[in-house]
Amino acid sequence: MTQIYAFPAPAQPFLPIIGSESVFPVRRIFCIGRNYAAHSREMGGDPTREPPFFFQKAADTIQICPLGQIVDHPYPPMTSNYHFEAEMVVALHQGGRDIKEATALDHVFGYAVGVDMTRRDRQDEAKSLKRPWEIAKSADFSAPIGPLNPASQVGHIQKGAITLSVNGNVKQNANLSDMIWSVPEQITILSTYFELKAGDLIFSGTPEGVGAVTRGDVMNVAIATLGNIELRVV
Ligand code: MN
Repeated sequence: MTQIYAFPAPAQPFLPIIGSESVFPVRRIFCIGRNYAAHSREMGGDPTREPPFFFQKAADTIQICPLGQIVDHPYPPMTSNYHFEAEMVVALHQGGRDIKEATALDHVFGYAVGVDMTRRDRQDEAKSLKRPWEIAKSADFSAPIGPLNPASQVGHIQKGAITLSVNGNVKQNANLSDMIWSVPEQITILSTYFELKAGDLIFSGTPEGVGAVTRGDVMNVAIATLGNIELRVV
């Protein structure tokens, strides 16, 4: 039966795909917490191989960031400590439950540069009051992402520099190989909690050096072989 919507249906979030006229329709955005040892320490954690934890950002928080162009990024309300977290984004074109690690990468369509923008003051408050992270992690526009690099073109990305600079000063500079839980492991563990589906994105965690931005700052976020995105906080 064809639905008749009471008002126009919300737009389907998507990401552009490098070298294609098709776009990648986004279903959910999963994020892994504390996936680099030095960042885990700076957040007051213990960087062990304890089971990883996950949270979600709403799919419509995506801000599309074309390569080679500075994008205006709106500073959100209700924070005075708005942090950047440079992350590699993994895009799935195939889902499933209880996905085996050996075949996990078969589910990956491609990779992109992303930033898990975070109201850190609201997150600290949520942690101390044992409240959900929603308002810390899912602010409007809080998921800036570059275009997807298909794995068919760039291969599966497991190492390479990940950097973020603010106004030309390097703040984060690490290697994807420093992840505590690899991309296949993240897919495997996530798929024990959720049935993953085509269109899902995974923010694979941020290295150390997270910090605040204010209006006027320009962030440049780069991952080797995936290009770089630039955001001006407005
Ligand atoms: Mn993060």
